[in-house]
Amino acid sequence: DVKNHGRNGFSFFHAEMEERSLERILLENELKKAIEREQFRIDYQPKLHLSTGQLIGMEALVRWDHPELGRIAPNKFIPIAEDTGLILPLGEWVLRHGCEQNKKWQDQGYPPLKLSVNLSARQFFQAGLVDRVKQILEETGLDSRWLELEVTESIFADIDLAAAIIEEINKLGVHTSIDDFGTGYSSFSYIKHLPVDTLKIDASFIRDIHHNKESQAIVKAILTIAETLHLNVIAEGVENEEQLAVLNEEGCSQGQGFLFSKPLSGPTFEQYLKGLPVAGAISP
Ligand code: C2E
Ligand code: MG
Ligand code: MG
Ligand code: MG
Repeated sequence: DVKNHGRNGFSFFHAEMEERSLERILLENELKKAIEREQFRIDYQPKLHLSTGQLIGMEALVRWDHPELGRIAPNKFIPIAEDTGLILPLGEWVLRHGCEQNKKWQDQGYPPLKLSVNLSARQFFQAGLVDRVKQILEETGLDSRWLELEVTESIFADIDLAAAIIEEINKLGVHTSIDDFGTGYSSFSYIKHLPVDTLKIDASFIRDIHHNKESQAIVKAILTIAETLHLNVIAEGVENEEQLAVLNEEGCSQGQGFLFSKPLSGPTFEQYLKGLPVAGAISP
């Protein structure tokens, strides 16, 4: 009984609840406005071949710099966007602008790279997603082979529908990957049903891979499964040389993380493509 917690307990309890919902309402409203006003940017994080250091692609990561509240992290606003359905227009904006930018870089003569765009489950399952993707590729002129869609294990919730959608995406020539792989329930038993191209090993296993036998065993298992199913594997969240050494030893071919580069703004990513020195990134 809340009242028995005394006056302070009672008011603290309510103050906290109220604060949470007010912040939430505030962010919802601000998010709505920001989508109308297109107040987002995209950062691009390089993906590399671990043995050669070759640049193979980049992940689009949405950024929201609110005029008064400052930078708001995706882990804070993406869940709100998902709950409210605002992820549909926001996700489409990221997809369109990412494709547009990638095409622009290709037209400028930089070596073509695969752009990965995150899709939340709600976007993935929305009616007409594949037509939407097709239309954006046509409008931006980007060839489908230079686009990859990253989805999380949350799509395993409806495995048959998910497999059918991925089949359609494959027909377009667009690549797919499972993000944060290994964190979900029964990842290993579901994956064989989905015709995806790549598994992204979740950063939580990479974080302590050089200290922790269990994490190392999980990474090994993911690499074995990937080999059996003929899937690519990429390690995310590679931060130091010790982690890299273990990944090389285990035969993980691709990586992404602060060791190579943090996510870069569009103009900075272009400097990086030119081979110019960039803060927070080692030269490609
Ligand atoms: P994610 O797709 O798993 O992206 C990886 C996150 O790890 C990014 O965080 C990235 O900045 C961060 N990261 C990269 N390398 C390292 C590293 O070496 N160490 C550490 N500690 N972190 C690293 P970010 O940009 O804050 O995004 C967080 C999540 O928000 C993403 O996780 C993704 O689930 C979601 N997200 C971001 N952009 C979009 C988007 O456009 N659409 C959707 N639906 N989700 C997005
Ligand atoms: Mg991702
Ligand atoms: Mg991830
Ligand atoms: Mg994630």
